[in-house]
Amino acid sequence: MRKRQRLGQHFLISQTVAKKIAEAARITKKDVVLEIGTGRGILVPLLCEKAKKVISIEADSVLYQDAKKRFSGIANLALRNGDGFKTDEKFSIFVSNLPYSKSRKAMEWLIQKKFSGAIVMVQKEFYEKLVAKGKNRKAISVLVNYSSEIEKIINVKKTNFNPPPKVDSVVLQLKRKKTISKELVQTTNKLFSYKRKNLKNIFKQFGKKIESDKRLEELSSEEIINIAKQVLR
Ligand code: SAH
Repeated sequence: MRKRQRLGQHFLISQTVAKKIAEAARITKKDVVLEIGTGRGILVPLLCEKAKKVISIEADSVLYQDAKKRFSGIANLALRNGDGFKTDEKFSIFVSNLPYSKSRKAMEWLIQKKFSGAIVMVQKEFYEKLVAKGKNRKAISVLVNYSSEIEKIINVKKTNFNPPPKVDSVVLQLKRKKTISKELVQTTNKLFSYKRKNLKNIFKQFGKKIESDKRLEELSSEEIINIAKQVLR
């Protein structure tokens, strides 16, 4: 029970949804696909069919061993056991039915990588946070929108999983525009802890000066990232 929660183990059971995910990823025989969270492997054969190579990482060693047995006949598949978010593997396409509790951390990790496209399944609430506008934006919304174009592919009802999670999911696609440094991620997060202060006071927190009484929430995502770059310098 605890492991299931910690690792966000809700396995997709719908072949229809699995096929839509694999198709939306637009994988070609030139692509190296990284999947985080092999699980019971519903996506694995579909990805391997289309890709040059698939690297699929699973934190749970029991699931990893099962997958190794089941998929031993697939030549372009590399299965790994461990924390996927610690990998240095290079990839062009990222696919993941993300553990919900780690959505934000996973996105922060992804936008620091040089991928071309990503298909991720997130909780509906997290998707809404990512595409929120104005005052409702969080640091993660600003960071992801700055780094990538976000497009919703499909809604996925919780009944498509075993065990079903408490909420529905959304499959979304990211097309990378820019890679973001770790420092920029950290600084943007810090800026948002001063969200209600005006720019003059925010700059003061970083030992810098600016004459502006605008608030962060009045700025566009690009402008907020530029502020983060300025206080970083
Ligand atoms: N892709 C599968 C599994 C989704 S459930 C499917 O669609 O059915 C999420 C999976 O991610 C679980 O198997 C869980 O054990 C695994 N997982 C959670 N955190 C992980 C991490 N940091 N690195 C690798 N796998 C992880």
